[in-house]
Amino acid sequence: MRIPYIAGNWKMHKTVGEAEALARELVRGLEHVDRKVMIAPAFTALPAVKRQLEGSHILLGAQNMGPEEKGAHTGEVSVLMLKDLGVDVVILGHSERRHVYGESDDLVNQKVRLALAHGLDVVLCVGETLEEREGGITDQVVERQVTAGLRDVDEKQLGSITLAYEPVWAIGTGKTATPQDADRTHRVIRALVGRLFGASAAEAMVIQYGGSVKPGNAGDLMAMEHVDGLLVGGASLEAASFLPIVKYEQGR
Ligand code: PEP
Repeated sequence: MRIPYIAGNWKMHKTVGEAEALARELVRGLEHVDRKVMIAPAFTALPAVKRQLEGSHILLGAQNMGPEEKGAHTGEVSVLMLKDLGVDVVILGHSERRHVYGESDDLVNQKVRLALAHGLDVVLCVGETLEEREGGITDQVVERQVTAGLRDVDEKQLGSITLAYEPVWAIGTGKTATPQDADRTHRVIRALVGRLFGASAAEAMVIQYGGSVKPGNAGDLMAMEHVDGLLVGGASLEAASFLPIVKYEQGR
């Protein structure tokens, strides 16, 4: 039984005050909603948002993390710093990190292993570009990213990992993969997890879909057999759009 898991990635948006206000609205709006939810504000807003989340079941996420515990890494934020702030989850391998900032599969894997070693949960993002999709290599790309991202991860640590399938061409573009398309790729990913770690690990793995998720398509995506959660960018920036996504059954 996989628990539905909805996450919001606020990217490089919101001052501390704005982030606090949104977190407060979400806490109020989800008070009686028993659903696994994570929000990932910018690093600067993590302590303030953490305070707003006290007593709520909403998890605090970070959007990225440096590859080492500490050292000469100007501009990076370490796993120890995230732990110190009470962060629960870190998003790794987001397409903007891979394609804008050139993060390789190896670097993403290094971060995944470091986060797990320190007890952080991980949302590991994978997904193909439009060119790769049109070239018919979607499956190979996501299989390569998942295999590399999970290299040297112990089966016992898999419960701390969520995979997020985010086709790059659907992120922030208004183009969503059809629920059937998303489900097909999720099935490919689940089969791969089965080959890597066995059938029960595959069955248990939560796979989120991300890419222009909105209140109007969340229910249809979540109705698919292999879509277990949603990773939401733009629509997570306002309570008016994120709350109906979290409560997707009512929103349909
Ligand atoms: C994302 O940033 O992970 C994302 C899916 O963005 P959006 O929902 O805006 O497409």
